[in-house]
Amino acid sequence: MADKMKSRVAVSEEAMLETWRKEDTFQQSFANRTGAPVFSFYDGPPFANGLPHFGHTLVTSIKDSLGRYKTMRGYSVERRNGWDCHGLPVEFAIEKQFGVSGKKQMLELGLDKFNAACRASVFTYKSEWEDFFGRVGRWTDTEHAYASIDRDYTESVWWTLQQIHTKGLLYEGFKSMPYCPRCETPLSNFELNEGYKDNVSDPSLFVKFKLADEDVYLLGWTTTPWSLPGNAASAVKPGESYVYVAVNDDEGHSQTLILAKKRLEAVLGEQKDYEVVKEVTAEQLAGRTYEPLFAIKDRGSYTNQENLYKVWLADHVSIEDGTGVLHVAPSFGEEVLRIGEENNFPTLVSLDASGRMKAGYGADDLTGTFFKDADRLITERLTINGNVYAAETFEHTYPFCYRCDSPLFYYSISTWFVRVSAIKDKLLDTAKEINWNPEHIKEGRFGKWLAGARDWAISRNRYWGAPMPIWRNVDDPSDYIVIGSIAELKDLAPEANLEDLHRPFIDAVTFIKDGKTYERIDEVLDCWFESGSMPIAQQHYPFENKEKFEKLFLADYIGEGLDQTRLWFYVQHVISTILFDRPAYKNVLVNGMIMAADGQKLSKRLKNYPPIEDVFAQEGADVLRLYLLSNNQAVNADYMRFNRSGLKDLQRNVMATLDNSVRFFRMYAELDGWKPRIPVAHPQPANALDNWILARLDETILEVTRQADDYKLAHAINPIFALIDDASNWYIRRSRRRFWKSEDDADKAQAYEVLHYTLVKIAQLLAPWAPFASDRVYRELTSDTSVHLTNWPTASEADGTALHEMKVIREIIAEGLKQRADAKIKVRQPLSKVTIAAAPSFLEQADAVAIICEELNVKTVVFAAGKTPAMTLALDVELTDTLQAEGLARDIIRHVQSLRKQSGLEVDDRIKLALSSSDAAMQSAIQSFGDMIAQETLATTLGSEHVEAPLEVTLEGTTVAISLAKA
Ligand SMILES: [Zn+2]
Repeated sequence: MADKMKSRVAVSEEAMLETWRKEDTFQQSFANRTGAPVFSFYDGPPFANGLPHFGHTLVTSIKDSLGRYKTMRGYSVERRNGWDCHGLPVEFAIEKQFGVSGKKQMLELGLDKFNAACRASVFTYKSEWEDFFGRVGRWTDTEHAYASIDRDYTESVWWTLQQIHTKGLLYEGFKSMPYCPRCETPLSNFELNEGYKDNVSDPSLFVKFKLADEDVYLLGWTTTPWSLPGNAASAVKPGESYVYVAVNDDEGHSQTLILAKKRLEAVLGEQKDYEVVKEVTAEQLAGRTYEPLFAIKDRGSYTNQENLYKVWLADHVSIEDGTGVLHVAPSFGEEVLRIGEENNFPTLVSLDASGRMKAGYGADDLTGTFFKDADRLITERLTINGNVYAAETFEHTYPFCYRCDSPLFYYSISTWFVRVSAIKDKLLDTAKEINWNPEHIKEGRFGKWLAGARDWAISRNRYWGAPMPIWRNVDDPSDYIVIGSIAELKDLAPEANLEDLHRPFIDAVTFIKDGKTYERIDEVLDCWFESGSMPIAQQHYPFENKEKFEKLFLADYIGEGLDQTRLWFYVQHVISTILFDRPAYKNVLVNGMIMAADGQKLSKRLKNYPPIEDVFAQEGADVLRLYLLSNNQAVNADYMRFNRSGLKDLQRNVMATLDNSVRFFRMYAELDGWKPRIPVAHPQPANALDNWILARLDETILEVTRQADDYKLAHAINPIFALIDDASNWYIRRSRRRFWKSEDDADKAQAYEVLHYTLVKIAQLLAPWAPFASDRVYRELTSDTSVHLTNWPTASEADGTALHEMKVIREIIAEGLKQRADAKIKVRQPLSKVTIAAAPSFLEQADAVAIICEELNVKTVVFAAGKTPAMTLALDVELTDTLQAEGLARDIIRHVQSLRKQSGLEVDDRIKLALSSSDAAMQSAIQSFGDMIAQETLATTLGSEHVEAPLEVTLEGTTVAISLAKA
């Protein structure tokens, strides 16, 4: 984008980036803390094969701010970023590039070719990420970044898996797993959780199984008609009553159905024409045989085939929905597989690995049909056969692949697991040490998840990932070796080339041990296993950096979005608890999610958020960071609405206010040749206003520090905004005259010192959150190097008396101004007095009286005894002629000042002023208050002969002509 398109703020921020680069400020800030206590931060690795997007600005701002904050607080904070390089997002993109999908096509293409393309793609957008980090002001060490494809990284991951195996927590199991037919791999239960969609329309099919020895039907219910060729059994709930019901079908034929008594009303309630003919127990139904819906091929070849198509008792049968008769297709569900295992009947795997119907299950004409497409065809077939009682559709929640959006199903497959369920108590125990922000996640989302922890499926039937380091005896599948290092493998297979540990090279590594041949299993590791091993693997522990690993483990702080609670936060916790019996981190800051202004998700298609580069070029990174970080929803795991006008408000109300204060200070300090003492020291003023702003500063320093130490970022930042406002709209406004006075007295020097000190400290308080402007302001005020090389400001207890007294004074002023407004008298019009009853004694001090008189524009404050202990205030709103004349004179002064500005005069230029009016009251006002007008406007002469073409202005219905010239 051309420079002229950029705002002044953006140009200034880019200049600061250049300064940091030249001065090596980030490295310097780290080097300054050599030997300091370590604050350990683990950076969750993003994928570099996708572009950074708007949502990343939030987490990036948080991570950077805390790094800067802790550095200023005196810690050594290593900030090394990493790249997540393996897994389905990469594979998915490359499959598209080659136009392949499924194992068969993949193997035809060649794994070497496929994985080479994956490798080439993983850093596609690395430089875009680095540019993004740079522009948003994120200080992170990209030079020493770790990447999950590095051989060292994989070696540590292998070691981690071997540790888990050594502790007896790795096992291979045949389980029905959430399975993606497009990716042809099982997913873990936490990946499953990422992809549920609401309101998915699916069949609701009431299907009839005819008992073999009686002309009645078990009434089953399914939402997955495609699974019916895999039906191997039915199940009923022990202890429940079942009823025989005579009912007429659509053609008026009578038939008898069996269903749970408790489901009768729900299933047949709308049908008037039914009659309960018999009641039996579930136990009486158990053991009966029914006619299969589909005839499987070669039934005799199945082990335990005599147990097929029988009714079993199972606790898992639901009485809350359906009919109380469960259709059991063991391959396609966790619980139904267990029912099959407990009762020894075969698993009929009627779908292939790509989710298509297989031959041999009684519906061969549908062979090759995708499971979801088979629903309608199966329903039609069964309807013709007379096996359907009712076919409807309904809406429910259904899981889809969170990577590729394919509908998932449960599929029985051999998978490797970490036995997390066995260490559940330990996980809960080590989790007690973790401090969460927001706090409710500890016992809520995270704690509940740990309490229900399931075994973690860590193998993926995929290609681009860390290969599982398991070699299996070709003659005995139960004999396998888990390798924990490259050296260990090299010992067993000395000839092997282990330069690249990826498939297919690693697949070629075989060895003979004790006369037995071992080959690697095909699977790769779940990429979450890799990211969960990050604390270990980024240091290539335990092969290298032992000391460094121990210094940085566990992390003092990690931070990501809420979705990571059951992903990265969880997997780190599991691995760390198993290996070290400790959590992986002490503090977690869970950030929220940025939504569009209308509350919708950010959407490229809807363009409901601004392009990030446009925000950088206009409002700039500081304001964006402040906007996000000061929003309590955003930094507290909640949804925040992004409203661009909020950036503009912050720019105007906070950053421009600060800039104006700094400009004001610099302008007058330059005029007076005032120079700060270096180093800047805490002033010891005599003036009440000075004491007050210093007390406000101390109070703010303490509050910001307390909140930031507690990871409450919004609560840390908002007090700085209030301080900037107080410094400008109260301290400077109230102190203006002290800077204007031409005598170079002690009070003026003190005002300079206090304002300078306050602004320098504000720059430091802002530094972590708004790193650009704070550094610019700091450099302007101190001629020092970067604010980011300074120590965080400290404060002793704030002067409570100064704070309290000014608070009371400001309350009095607010009340007086309200009484003015009620009487409809503008503030410029002087009034004679305000009477305060039952005032605390400090109000009678000259400083306080002066402030009240000026702010309320009254001549005197009268203190009176009160009828009640509560302080009251009465503004005298009566206008005398003299007061009115002074009001006119004040109006004239205002117009002269604005004319001075328009004429391009410097603030200290002296002028010749001329005023004329035909109105008697105005003439009298000019006469009576001429000295005041001259003094306030720096006029050396005041006459009625115009010195320039005069400007006519109307005041209170009369006209006055004004002209001025430089004296
Ligand atoms: Zn998928």
